[in-house]
Amino acid sequence: MRRGCLSVGTVACDICKRPIPYPDRYLMVDEDASGEEVNQGGRSVRYCIDCAKEKGYARYKEIKGEMMLTFLRESEPVPSTETAPPAAAVASAKSAKTEKPAKPAKASAKDEKASVEKTADKAAEKQKAPAKAAAKK
Ligand SMILES: [Zn+2]
Repeated sequence: MRRGCLSVGTVACDICKRPIPYPDRYLMVDEDASGEEVNQGGRSVRYCIDCAKEKGYARYKEIKGEMMLTFLRESEPVPSTETAPPAAAVASAKSAKTEKPAKPAKASAKDEKASVEKTADKAAEKQKAPAKAAAKK
């Protein structure tokens, strides 16, 4: 996972070891031991702009007529806010789906309707015993 950061002047590039002065941008990338980018669980490696470009992590993209440096992949849309990672959103959507949704609710709604009709008939006959009708169900 990549995170674009602004240097506060106390960080250095992990690749070329050059200090990154304030307020330059740099990139944090989670990588596994072999230097492959991972979504999570890796170690965070700091890249200065030059090293990020060299590794293909940074590129220039035309945004509103200006060439802007971006750390995003070509396929990634520019996010308006940096919120929860998409992987987590997908995971939670998946788990929500497996949580048995409207099906039993629908069935019980049908039962309820039928019993309500029955109860209504019976209630018309003998209004004294609504509790009995409810207990039957
Ligand atoms: Zn560097």
